Amino acid sequence: MSLNSQILITAILGVIFGFVLNLFPNTQFFDASIYGLSIVSSIFIGLLKMLLIPLIFSSIVVGVSNLEASGQLSRTWKITLMCCVTTTTLALILGLACAHLFNVGKGVDIVMFQDAMSAHNTPDTLTPSSFFTNFIQNTLINPFKAFAEGNVLAVVVFALFVGVALVKGGENFRTVRKLSHQFFDIMMLMIGWVMKLAPLGILALLAKLIATEDVSVLSRLAEFAAVVTGTTIFHGVVVLPLLLWIFGKMNPLTFFKGTRAALITAFATSSSSATMPLSMKCAQENLGVRPQTAGFVIPLGTQLNMDGTALYEAAAALFIANLMGLDLTIGQQLIVCATAMIASLGAPGIPSAGMVTMIMVLQSVGLPAEAIAILLPIDRLLDTVRTVVNVQGDMMISVVVDRYTKEENTV
Ligand code: ASP
Repeated sequence: MSLNSQILITAILGVIFGFVLNLFPNTQFFDASIYGLSIVSSIFIGLLKMLLIPLIFSSIVVGVSNLEASGQLSRTWKITLMCCVTTTTLALILGLACAHLFNVGKGVDIVMFQDAMSAHNTPDTLTPSSFFTNFIQNTLINPFKAFAEGNVLAVVVFALFVGVALVKGGENFRTVRKLSHQFFDIMMLMIGWVMKLAPLGILALLAKLIATEDVSVLSRLAEFAAVVTGTTIFHGVVVLPLLLWIFGKMNPLTFFKGTRAALITAFATSSSSATMPLSMKCAQENLGVRPQTAGFVIPLGTQLNMDGTALYEAAAALFIANLMGLDLTIGQQLIVCATAMIASLGAPGIPSAGMVTMIMVLQSVGLPAEAIAILLPIDRLLDTVRTVVNVQGDMMISVVVDRYTKEENTV
């Protein structure tokens, strides 16, 4: 049986097991099962995280040096950036439009959230300007510190510098370039080993998620959750495939079939960073994206391109404003969009990262940061779907970029 089918089957089994566990709360069976599931899921996620930093570093170095070898660096950069900005903007517009259309949060009795709001600690103020300062301070740092702390964005920036330096040095640095390629191949081999564990890891992750979620609290926010989920799915099933079809000339069904393993892993881990090794594998092996394109676009996309997160943050800001009885002006909604774009750019690809940058979006239009307490109970659930779309966007862009850079080659 292929890895894809194994993952699909264990994902379904995981959901069923989660519901079964829900039937036996506060029993020894429940506690022992959650303990076992936590161990299995921690091993799987831990192994993926172990490989993440060396993989990102080597893939970007290799990606950049390969691209320049065929004179494509600036073109690839431009197309990647253009795709990221376009898809994120569409996601933001869609998020706001659907939140308006379905009047999310209008007419809901805010009193029911008072407990949650008073229990929540106000986080430090995070304005867009302080966000930028933090962003620069956390990105341009000692690379060894970045490696040790797992600071992905700083590693990406350093890898870009190294890649460009290798290119500029040309033949002088041939040995190091070859070494980077071999190091990257070793990483990919190890990822292949870890992925053998994926079916078991995903079963454990999903069963634990279903068994430990507080269903009664979730039902309060059902309307908002349904609208955001529906809109995110619409973006992933209609908008992105349409762009893929028009600009990537690829049948969306081929895309979904080839990326199924990565999409399910994104759903189960809620982390685009943890899923990245698999996204890269799917793009190269199943979608035919050239390794130099996938090795460059996917790690960058994992960091910078988060359609699902942007869509969620824009809709959530409107939801909170509605709950407070505030009508945001068009200008304020534009500020929400701009801030949500920066926030999605800076959010690392880890579970609930969007929740942290959400504070910045709320504050950009004077909404209280405490209001994120309202969103906390449903965040873990919504994170699953938005991460899938984040990961899907990265793989889709790699197809489009690959096509346009390939075409230039043949001209
Ligand atoms: N979990 C998301 C991701 O890894 C980020 C977010 O919280 O929105 O892509």
